[in-house]
Amino acid sequence: MHPQRILPVLVLIAGCSFFSSEQRTPRFESEEELVAYAKGVHERAITIDSHADISDDFASEKEDVGSADNRRQVTLPKMRKGGLDVEFFAVFTGTGDRSAASYESAYKNALARFDAIHRLSVRYPDEVAIAVSPADVVRINASGKLVACIGVENGYPIATDISRVKEFYDRGARYITLTHSGHNQICDSSTPREGQPPEEYGGLSEFGRQVVREMNRLGIMIDISHASKNASLEVLRLSKAPIIASHSGASGVNEHPRNLDDETLRELKRNGGVVQLVSLAEYIKRREDSPERLAALTELRKEFGLPEGRGLGMRRAMQTLSQEQIAKLREKMREIDVKFPRTPVTVQDMVNHIDHIVKVISIDHVGIGSDFDGGGGLTGWGDASESLNITVELVRRGYSENDIKKIWGENLLRVWREVERVSENMK
Ligand SMILES: [Zn+2]
Repeated sequence: MHPQRILPVLVLIAGCSFFSSEQRTPRFESEEELVAYAKGVHERAITIDSHADISDDFASEKEDVGSADNRRQVTLPKMRKGGLDVEFFAVFTGTGDRSAASYESAYKNALARFDAIHRLSVRYPDEVAIAVSPADVVRINASGKLVACIGVENGYPIATDISRVKEFYDRGARYITLTHSGHNQICDSSTPREGQPPEEYGGLSEFGRQVVREMNRLGIMIDISHASKNASLEVLRLSKAPIIASHSGASGVNEHPRNLDDETLRELKRNGGVVQLVSLAEYIKRREDSPERLAALTELRKEFGLPEGRGLGMRRAMQTLSQEQIAKLREKMREIDVKFPRTPVTVQDMVNHIDHIVKVISIDHVGIGSDFDGGGGLTGWGDASESLNITVELVRRGYSENDIKKIWGENLLRVWREVERVSENMK
């Protein structure tokens, strides 16, 4: 064939879906057909949830996470039932003051939580194994076991000792969320504590910059969830490796300090990173309570002498209540929830954020990070056992199998591999 004739033919072939690498989502005759297709996609994907919390007694004699009766949102049976393959469990520590004593107790708390996560593979060796690399994730998943990974939520327990970053890495941490509520010694928070200025550094502290460089060097993913916008932008400029937001939403859908705005999203795309969509209702959708519910809540507050809001005043007032009063308050709260339920926030609302992120920065930069057992959970994705519902909703909206695999895990694994590669190059 004459060369000038080849080009149009190639274009034709490439445009034909048979040759396209992109698998198209078929049209479905019925809901059953759609769900059956989604199940297949869900099984073939490596499904990763990048953020769930644990308790002190997690996987100990006191708390059996292998039991079907356990009420946590993430347990081994719930992961199995929901086809959720991989969970990043959080070594969480709240931010305290910057005294040596507070740092020391935070450090001890962090070590206890590392131990708790490691207990999983000791107590349930046939069920679950700990992964410290993307290669581990793929290998353990292929063996049929569930996969547990470790993220450190809040760099506060690093204190001012840079060698702890390496220590946490050696204990299995593969991401560190730089901060939490309240500015810490590393960077500004998106939600300052009462009495704190909106920003302390306008981004990272000098020590925070050191932490970022050390994480790049060791191969730990940097997590900007909970960081302020300026801190996030500074990390995105400074980091030599792609970063993650382990559990955040999009401010373009619901304005919230814990969500990322479009400018930050675009910088994150330039950096090659990934936003893991959170399932915490307050971040996903602003909901208006009915006047009846508001009136009932006001009545309840009056009855127990509680102030408005959820701030310090409320926490102090709660501390003055007896155990008996608190039990009574909870019971009345449940009655109100039944009588005047809140508007549900659903999987569909969550996938609206995914749609937005895809539109702004493409399918390659979005994933999933529930925040289960730490405030996460929506109607339709109330715990790990309901994870298929996300895939069903994605299929319904026309996402292809390749797209869904990226969202459920491939994007995060790509970032993690790149973080490893950057670290190798720095050695
Ligand atoms: Zn969090």
